[in-house]
Amino acid sequence: MNGNLNVQTENIFPVIKKFLYSDHEIFLRELVSNAIDATQKLKALASRGELQGDAGDLTVEVAVDSKNKTLTVKDRGIGMTADEVEKYINQIAFSGATDFLDKYKDVQENLIGHFGLGFYSAFMVADKVEIFSKSYQDAPAIHWSCEGNPQFTMEEDPSHTDRGTDIVLHIADDCKEFLDEQQVLQLLRKYCRFMPIAIRFGEESVWVDSETEFDEVDDGNGGKKKQPKRVEKKQPRIINDTDPAWKKSPANLTDEDYKKFYHELYPMNFEDPLFQIHLNVDYPFNLTGILYFPKVRKTIDPTRNKIQLYCNQVFVTDSVEGVVPDYLMLLHGVLDSPDIPLNVSRSYLQSDSNVKKISGHISKKVADKLEEMFKNDRKDFEDKWDDIKIFVEYGMLTDEKFCERALKFALLKNTEGQYFSLADYRDKIKPLQTDKDKNVIYLYANDVEEQHVYIAKAKAKGYDVLLLDSVLTPHWVNLLEQKNEKSRFVRVDADTIEKLIAHEDSIPEKMSKEDQEKLKPIIEAEVDKKKFTVQMESLESDDQPMVITQSEFMRRYKEMAATGGGGMGFYGELPESYNLVVNVNHPLIEQVLNESDADKQKQLVHQLTDLALLSNGLLKGEALTEFVKRSIKMI
Ligand code: ADP
Repeated sequence: MNGNLNVQTENIFPVIKKFLYSDHEIFLRELVSNAIDATQKLKALASRGELQGDAGDLTVEVAVDSKNKTLTVKDRGIGMTADEVEKYINQIAFSGATDFLDKYKDVQENLIGHFGLGFYSAFMVADKVEIFSKSYQDAPAIHWSCEGNPQFTMEEDPSHTDRGTDIVLHIADDCKEFLDEQQVLQLLRKYCRFMPIAIRFGEESVWVDSETEFDEVDDGNGGKKKQPKRVEKKQPRIINDTDPAWKKSPANLTDEDYKKFYHELYPMNFEDPLFQIHLNVDYPFNLTGILYFPKVRKTIDPTRNKIQLYCNQVFVTDSVEGVVPDYLMLLHGVLDSPDIPLNVSRSYLQSDSNVKKISGHISKKVADKLEEMFKNDRKDFEDKWDDIKIFVEYGMLTDEKFCERALKFALLKNTEGQYFSLADYRDKIKPLQTDKDKNVIYLYANDVEEQHVYIAKAKAKGYDVLLLDSVLTPHWVNLLEQKNEKSRFVRVDADTIEKLIAHEDSIPEKMSKEDQEKLKPIIEAEVDKKKFTVQMESLESDDQPMVITQSEFMRRYKEMAATGGGGMGFYGELPESYNLVVNVNHPLIEQVLNESDADKQKQLVHQLTDLALLSNGLLKGEALTEFVKRSIKMI
């Protein structure tokens, strides 16, 4: 029989080819999925006893024949009768394709499998497509052929006696890559790696003990013994794992199984994940998957080991924006859901209510897991905290609901390596670190070595100092200040310790105001006035003579601007500025004032400012060399 395809459009083949150019390769996913579907339908019939005879080997086979320029997808599924080809291929599938092209002319991202364009995607890469099919029902086999135009031929084909369907693609000259074994193998591994029926592609070599050939080797006792030779053996290459871990019940999986699956997913990543969350939901939407928490220290590369999205074990994409809350994009693993609409643009995806529910559910599961770890094994949770804090901080900053949950399990670590919950820490520091305005002051450092002088001073007063060294710290402490009334976070070098936590009683000044006025310009003459503001302050006489500080507010906002805080750009533009605090009660400062020799006075000021800079890690390069030379001379 010859016929015309049921098309409203003139000839959409050229359009298929051009329009879907960027996604050509997915034809393979479409055809293999169809083969798998047909096989699963057959298995269902067999299990209900509705199949006559034996189902036989149901492996789906993909083969390339570079000589004849064909690529074949072969299954032993339910097959199609002539009527079914007429209905599903000539009419329905085709109108699906037309619909698709009509509706989504403007959509660039083509996830076309779910439009019913499936079968016709073969024409993206083939000039001619043939179907050989024999239904499981008692009907003659058929041969259908179409050369990329609306005409097709269909006839009975008694030579095709096996149940099932062969789809033969005559690959177009400009798509020769699909005849290359390695390329096809790669595509199968990408799209079909976890499909539920075994897929065979060619053969692979394995090394095994020979049954017939032996080597003579030393037996370790001075004699000889026979040992089977290692020989190369060819065996069918099965490209997929039909029963991936996420489809199994968590009760049947050990930690080792989860790790093994992680490395199966990311063969190039040699580090074990920290822990995982196994998702399994069937109401109100269907979702399975495993999300892994990787070890993250300071750098994160979100382009590596991305979460993979599947639809009934068929790989769809690894760009999961919109489906997964932003902060969880840093996780690894797989999600599988037939309820994520894959047929639309990203902006639509984000407003889809199912997607919102899924995203919310994932976020809730992550919070559940973290809270459970916090409650059940606090020590283990503390051990993992440094690696997961970036997720928690990011999550708290971007997801209101998650934040409310995380306030209960987020940890603070102090410079001595002890961990505290937010509530416990507040209780701990409240008695000593409440200032005269009733604010609880959280002191923190971001580098224990560099801020050593400041940390030591705080500790000498009995205060506790936190270590907050994440890239998100400035944003995160801002958030914590909003969430806890009467709380302020200040870095230890933001001011003198007396001012950071100001109590009622102040230290009396030994130097008169007049003298202070006289002294100030002498010191100012020795520093870069654009960078440093000189401040006279009354500190303990055994405290340092001069200290460098940098306002918490300025520094924090500058840092926030650097890591992309909304509307913070202005702060990023400001120059670095510091305070040079002069301790008017210190004997050396008094000595500066009383020094009559101008040169000596200058040198003393210079030496004192350099020491202050040195404590802050700001004395570098030539200035440092000069300082060392000058100090040696003075000794
Ligand atoms: P979809 O798979 O989305 O329904 P397709 O265009 O891929 O759309 O296929 C149309 C129909 O053709 C399928 O629904 C199925 O009934 C039939 N079909 C396609 N491939 C096969 C196959 N290998 N074996 C049996 N039937 C098939």
